[in-house]
Amino acid sequence: MKIVLEHLTKVFPGRGKNAPDVIAVNDLTFEIPDGKLVGLLGPSGCGKSTVLNLVSGLLKASDGKVFFDDDDVTGIPAEYRGVGVVFQNYALYPHLTVEKNILFPMENFKGEKRLSKQAMLERAHQAAKLVQIDGLMDRKPAELSGGQQQRVAIARALVKQPRVLLMDEPLSNLDARLRLQTREEIRRIQRETKITTVFVTHDQEEAMSISDLIVVMKDGILQQLGKPQEVYDSPANLFVARFLGTPPINVFHGRVEGGKLLLDGQAVLKAKRVPDQDVYVAIRPEGFIPQKDGALQCGLKAVEVMGRDVSVVADHPAMEGEQIRAIIPSTTRVDDGAETIRFALHPEKVLLFSKSDETRISAALK
Ligand code: ADP
Ligand code: MG
Repeated sequence: MKIVLEHLTKVFPGRGKNAPDVIAVNDLTFEIPDGKLVGLLGPSGCGKSTVLNLVSGLLKASDGKVFFDDDDVTGIPAEYRGVGVVFQNYALYPHLTVEKNILFPMENFKGEKRLSKQAMLERAHQAAKLVQIDGLMDRKPAELSGGQQQRVAIARALVKQPRVLLMDEPLSNLDARLRLQTREEIRRIQRETKITTVFVTHDQEEAMSISDLIVVMKDGILQQLGKPQEVYDSPANLFVARFLGTPPINVFHGRVEGGKLLLDGQAVLKAKRVPDQDVYVAIRPEGFIPQKDGALQCGLKAVEVMGRDVSVVADHPAMEGEQIRAIIPSTTRVDDGAETIRFALHPEKVLLFSKSDETRISAALK
C-alpha cells in the first residue's frame, strides 16, 4: 500500500488568550512507496507524531489529504483505515495475558472480517512467532521485559493484517542494547511482512540504520526525502546536514572567490563554476586527511583513540562552533604532542551552503 500525503496541514488552536496557533504540520506533500520502511525523522516537537496521527486517523487534518493507494482516507475514522499502530509506551492491557492482548483487536472484527475462535488463535500464534514471543503467551505484561512488551504490541498491531504499520518512537523506552536488537527485529519483520511502515524517531542513527527511505522534518515542514545514504551525502540544506551524522558535521564560515574555496583567506579546494560569495562550509568528520602539506592548518587540541578509529579534536579561526572533530583511521599516525595539524580535504565530504537561505550550493569541488 502506497501512502500519499497531499498538502497535509494540522493547526492546533493556541491555548489561552492571545496564544498563537501552532502549525504542527505545514503543507506536507510526499509519497511513501508500497512495501517500504520509512523513517520519519526530526527533532522533538517538529510534528512527527502529528503526521503519524493524521495518517492513522487519530487526528483530523486541518487541510490537505491522505491517500492509501488511490483511496482518499482523509475523512475515514481510524478504525476503518486498516492501520496498525505501535506507541512508545506499548499500551498493553495489564490485566490480560499476552495471548489475550494479541487476540483483542480481532475480537472486535465485524461483518465479513469476523474470525472463528480457532482462526483468531492461529493468527495470534503466527504473529507471536514472528516477533518471537510465542513462549510467553500466558504471561501478563508486568512479567515481561520492555523489549518483550514492545514485541507484544507489534504482534497485536500485526494480527489486524493492517494495510500500513505506524510506529511512534517504538524503541525509546528500551535500554541501548535492547534498542539495537529490537530495531533489527523490526527491520526483519517488515521485510517478511512487506507492510508499508512508517517509523517515527528523533534518533538519526536509528532512522539511518533501519529505513529504506528517510523523511526529515523541521517545524512541521518537510526538509528532505531520500535514501539514508543520499540524504547523508547530499543534504538539501544546512539543517539536514547538521541533523545527520555522529560526530556532527563541522561548519565553517568560508568564501568562494575566483573559483577557490577559502577558509580564513586560505584556499583549501578548487570550487569551479561557483559564483563569488560568502558560504557555509560543512565538512564531515571523515573528510579530514592528516597531511604534512595539507591546505587546512588547524590548532591541535586532542587526539582520542577510540579503537577502530581515532578522533582528532582541533580548532580553526573560521570554525563556527568551538572545535573541529575529525575521524581518521587508527592506522594514520598523528603526533599528539604537536601544536598544529594540517589536513587535506576529501572534496566529496565538503558541502557548501548558501549564507542567505542555508540551501545546498551544488559545487564541483576538487
Ligand atoms: P514530535 O512528535 O515531532 O515531537 P508533535 O507532533 O508531538 O512533535 O508536536 C508538534 C507540535 O505540535 C509541537 O509544537 C506540539 O507542542 C504541538 N502539539 C502537538 N499536539 C498538540 C495538541 N493536542 N494541542 C496543541 N499543540 C499540540
Ligand atoms: Mg512525538
